[in-house]
Amino acid sequence: MSPDNTRSSNRLEALTRIVREVDSAPDLDTALSVIVRRTREVIAAVVCTVYFTDHGQRHHVFAATDGLSADLVGQVKAGFGRGLIGQVADSSRSVNLAEVPEELDQEFLTQSGAGRYHGFLGVPVVHKRLVQGVLLVRQRKARRFDDADEAFLTTLAAQLGSAIAFARANGEMCTLCRTGTSQQRRFEGLSGAPGIGIGKGIVLFAADLQTVPDRVPEDPAMEERRFRQAVASVRAEIARLTDDLEETLSSADRALFDAYVLMLDSPEIVETVVQHIHLGNWAPGALRQTIEAHVQRFELMDDLYLRERATDIRELGTRILLRLQGTSARLEDCPPGSILIGRRISAIDLGLVPPGRLRGIISVEGSALSHAAIVARALSLPAVVGIENLPISVLDGQELVVDGNNGHIYLRPDPALQQAFASLIEEEREFSASLASLRNLPAQTPDCVEVPLYTNTGLAADLALAAACDSAGIGLYRSELPFMLYDRFPSEQEQITLYRQALEAVAPRPVNLRTLDAGGDKPLSYLHIAEPNPALGSRGIRLTLDHPDIFLTQLRAALRADIGLGNLRLLLPMISDMDDLEQALIILNRAEQQLVEEGFAIIRPKVGIMIEVPAAIYQLEQLARHVDFLSVGTNDLAQYLLATDRNNPRVSRRLDHCHPALLHALQQIVHAAGGAEKPVTVCGEMANDPGCALLLLGMGFDGLSISASAIPRVKWAIRSIPAARMQGLAEQALQLDLPEHVHHLLEQTLQDVRLERL
Ligand code: PEP
Ligand code: MG
Repeated sequence: MSPDNTRSSNRLEALTRIVREVDSAPDLDTALSVIVRRTREVIAAVVCTVYFTDHGQRHHVFAATDGLSADLVGQVKAGFGRGLIGQVADSSRSVNLAEVPEELDQEFLTQSGAGRYHGFLGVPVVHKRLVQGVLLVRQRKARRFDDADEAFLTTLAAQLGSAIAFARANGEMCTLCRTGTSQQRRFEGLSGAPGIGIGKGIVLFAADLQTVPDRVPEDPAMEERRFRQAVASVRAEIARLTDDLEETLSSADRALFDAYVLMLDSPEIVETVVQHIHLGNWAPGALRQTIEAHVQRFELMDDLYLRERATDIRELGTRILLRLQGTSARLEDCPPGSILIGRRISAIDLGLVPPGRLRGIISVEGSALSHAAIVARALSLPAVVGIENLPISVLDGQELVVDGNNGHIYLRPDPALQQAFASLIEEEREFSASLASLRNLPAQTPDCVEVPLYTNTGLAADLALAAACDSAGIGLYRSELPFMLYDRFPSEQEQITLYRQALEAVAPRPVNLRTLDAGGDKPLSYLHIAEPNPALGSRGIRLTLDHPDIFLTQLRAALRADIGLGNLRLLLPMISDMDDLEQALIILNRAEQQLVEEGFAIIRPKVGIMIEVPAAIYQLEQLARHVDFLSVGTNDLAQYLLATDRNNPRVSRRLDHCHPALLHALQQIVHAAGGAEKPVTVCGEMANDPGCALLLLGMGFDGLSISASAIPRVKWAIRSIPAARMQGLAEQALQLDLPEHVHHLLEQTLQDVRLERL
């Protein structure tokens, strides 16, 4: 190996080691001291320092150092746009100077009293396009740091960016960066569902050890018992598995199972958890503390084999946690006035909470288009979603405000803020009450064009809402939601009961029963599909076509539920091409034929397809000729068109339903549907927004299907703007280049007719 190669492989090793140490550091201070110490060693610099950016105060604060006095931390500050630090941060590029001009370093020289340093290399620390700080090294003598030094520092800075962002979210940086002394904190996410809720956080920690909160146990002895029982049942489970799989297990697998039992029998884990319980944490919290400490120890080991054992310990911890959960608080026991918090909250979690108990929802993952947000809107619950780095375990039991209108969360709001939000809630309530007068009035424009407004539904709780509000029927019945409540596929009879309930609730108005759209972000616990990219995998019609037995049962149940009512319409999800449609229709024909032969007096319902895969747009006329109606799923259409995962908070801001590409695609769909003379509606979340609803109608959509809770607002907008004006609005919007310009146009339009409160 050449000396250069040896050096770079040493650097790589050093980097990997630092990243591991930083990852397992218990807090930001430790992480920073690792970074500055190790960087100084590796680069052989005299000083390594990190500055944090305080955007509020418009300066960068000296946050950690190796090589300078620790007294400078928090004291030395570099103003925005000034000096060396300002140059690195402003340009968002590295600055590498063999000889720093004195005037450029004046601020540092005066504040630190550390004397001149001639060599300088600084790189910006950036997270999500925002500068979080500066990482730098200095040398007393003139020195030009080389490319490898620069690459090393840049890589570390990338690592540091998310650590700082996380610490900011966690409130760890209060001593340095926060202004004021209040304990109140604000976190920014995305608006998932509108409205404001004030309540106490309750963390839904699923089987994810990382998110388990600390809680003071009411009865430590009881917690200890609970924990020992969980350990005993995991041990029994492993013993049973080892016996059952005796013949099939390889010796390596058996060794792993034996290692699990050894870990469970050793006092190291079990007794440490018990100690933590008696020091004041409940069993799941004590388990998390213990497992994390063990995992960290193993992850820092040099030996690859031992490092891998960290995964086994985590796995074991998760198994114990699962057992503990069986006996811990359940969603059904969620107290009134709760704000439900989770890494990912499923539609089913929401369905399990008894009505009226929740005041809001916070989901770390997701966007306005993810299913938790959709169900939150259906249940009229404010939701904030997509808050990367939210330290959810510290939110349990805390007073919180969920501002779903702006996508903000306030932790421990002070009385003045609570009061301000309480007034807003009251205003909102009065506003909603004023909309009640619209009930029973038609969704008709001032120039007398009647718009069919349908409701989206799926959970029993919002079925009641749908029936109560005056919609034209159910435009989207998400049949996978009731499926998710089961621990196996519901039988034909069980499905008949479910569908009959929906059909009867709105008869004679129609119900668009969408066939099972499981997979993607709607997994069924009893149909495990391991896929690297579930959104592009086996979901919707692809899944049901692969399992014709399941599809056939669902179709039979739907047809039988409709007997004597006649308001069923079938909607097929995720159709990408003619083959999908033909295969689905063949199975429908089979279901029909079977039932007729069995003597059931069924009638063939109208059949429609969801337009939500971009490929369908390019074959729309052919597809439309074989069905009775079309319904556009803008949630998935936006996801696939914009190549933006609807559940990934890193990119969810890009998922804008006013994106010009989406608007042009929608216009193309309207034209193709017109060409085939088939009615086309929109059932994606876009239509819940009153401004977008006007835009869609202006484009020529024949109707909209929205959450029951959005009906009054959308109806009000429709009743205020003539159809001709909506058309003009659509024409104008289609000329615009940027989503924000479209938003602005819609806001302006609502303001013009004094509907800005919508
Ligand atoms: C859509 O994709 O827009 C839609 C209505 O279906 P879902 O949100 O259930 O995927
Ligand atoms: Mg969809």
